[in-house]
Amino acid sequence: MTRSEFVKVCGLLGVSLPFQSFFTSCSNDDNGNPIDSSESVIIIGAGPAGMAAGHLLAQRGVNFRILEASSTYGGRIRHTTTFADFPISLGGEWIHVANSILPEIVNNPSTQITTQTQGYSNQDPVGYFDGNTLTMSTIGATGGETDLKFVGSSWLDFFETYILPNVQSRITYNTPISAIDYTGDRVTVTDTNGQTYTADRVIVAVPVKILQSGMVTFTPSLPSEKQNAINSVSVWGGFKAFFKFSEEFYPTYLAFEDSQTEAGQKLYYDAAYAQNTNSNILGLFTVGQQAEPYQNLSGNAQRDYILNELDTVFGSNIATSNYIDHVVQNWNEETFAKGAYIVDHEDWRKVRTLGESVANKVYFAGDAYTDGEDWSSVHTAARSAKRAVQEMVG
Ligand SMILES: Cc1cc2nc3c(=O)[nH]c(=O)nc-3n(C[C@H](O)[C@H](O)[C@H](O)COP(=O)(O)OP(=O)(O)OC[C@H]3O[C@@H](n4cnc5c(N)ncnc54)[C@H](O)[C@@H]3O)c2cc1C
Repeated sequence: MTRSEFVKVCGLLGVSLPFQSFFTSCSNDDNGNPIDSSESVIIIGAGPAGMAAGHLLAQRGVNFRILEASSTYGGRIRHTTTFADFPISLGGEWIHVANSILPEIVNNPSTQITTQTQGYSNQDPVGYFDGNTLTMSTIGATGGETDLKFVGSSWLDFFETYILPNVQSRITYNTPISAIDYTGDRVTVTDTNGQTYTADRVIVAVPVKILQSGMVTFTPSLPSEKQNAINSVSVWGGFKAFFKFSEEFYPTYLAFEDSQTEAGQKLYYDAAYAQNTNSNILGLFTVGQQAEPYQNLSGNAQRDYILNELDTVFGSNIATSNYIDHVVQNWNEETFAKGAYIVDHEDWRKVRTLGESVANKVYFAGDAYTDGEDWSSVHTAARSAKRAVQEMVG
C-alpha cells in the first residue's frame, strides 16, 4: 500500500581478487563527464536497486561488479516458497503504482513481460476494530485501493526473471563492504575481510540504516549536509508474520485505531488474495512503534500474542482453534537491513539530499536515495537506480 492509500483504508474507516583482475585500468573522470564503456563501476548491495542499476549498466555496455554482503540477492524483497503453494513476500509485497512499472524497470521494449498482477475489488470486505467492536465495510466504501498484488509470484520472482540474468554473473556474495575511499582518481572499497576493490565510480545501494550504523565509512567524509541527512532521517523498524488457518474467518483487510499514525503502521490482510490456492493465509504487516510488541516477543509467546489479538477481534477463539502454522520476519534483526524503511512523513528535502551523488564518483541508489518525491518502495528503489545510472552515463 502507498502512504496515501494506507491512510484511505485506515482513515476512512474511522480511522578484489577475481574482481580486481576483472577490471582493466581505466581513464578517470571526476569532472562530471559521463562515464564511458572503458570505465568500471562497483555497486554495493544486490537488492532491487543494486540489481536494477547493474541491469541498466549492462544495457549500456558498462563494466560493473556488484558486491553483496549476504549470501543471496534480493535484500528486503526476500520471499519464502516453502510456507504456501505461492510465494510469500517477507518484505516488499505490493506494487504501489501502475503495473507499467514492470516494463519501465526492464527498460527493453522487446522483452515480453508475462508477470501477472491483480488489483482489489471495491466489494472486498474490510474490517475495523476500535478496541471493542469489529465494524465491517468494503474497500469501495473506504475510498478504494489501487495497490496491485503479484499473482503466483512476487517482486523477487520479477527481478529473478527479468533483471537477474543480466547481472547474476557479476555479483560477488558474502562481501560486506566497510569502507569507501574516493580520495584519488578512482574509488577503492574495502570489505570486512580487508580485501580491496577498485573502480572508477561506485553506486551505494545499501539500506540507509546501514549507513546510519556506521558500518560503511567514507574517505573523505561525506559532505556535512549529506551526512546530516543520513544521521537524522527516521527509519521505521519492520515486522511481518503469516498465519495459516483451516478457515478464512477474516476480511481482505483488518485495520485498527493505530493502523496509521506518525509512529508507525499495522494491518492484517489476506495474503492469499488473488492467488490460485486453497490455503488460508493471513498476513500481518507492521512498522515503527506498532511493530514493537511483536518484535519484543519470540517463539510461542509471539505466536500466541498474535492469535490472542485475532481471537479478541473475531471472537469464539476462532484464530487459535483454526491455527495451522506460521512464519515471521523481523527486519530489525537482519544484519544487512537493520530495519524497514524511511518513515512516510519524513522531510522530502532530506530524502532528496540522500539521493544526491558526491564528487561525480559516489552515487546512491535505493528506496532511501530518491529525488524526494516518493521513497521506501521497490519502484522508488528501481527508479533511483535509473536516475543514478543516467546521471553517471549521461
Ligand atoms: C516489512 C516491509 C514491507 C514492505 N512492503 C513493501 C511493499 O509492499 N511494496 C514495496 O514496493 N516495497 C515494500 N517494502 C520496501 C522494499 O522492500 C524496499 O523499498 C526495497 O527492498 C529497497 O530496495 P533496495 O535495493 O534499496 O534495498 P534492499 O532491498 O535492502 O537491498 C540492499 C542490499 O544491500 C545489501 N547490503 C547491506 N549492507 C551491505 C554492505 N555493507 N555491503 C554490501 N552489501 C550490503 C543487503 O544485503 C541487500 O541485499 C517493504 C519493506 C519492508 C521491510
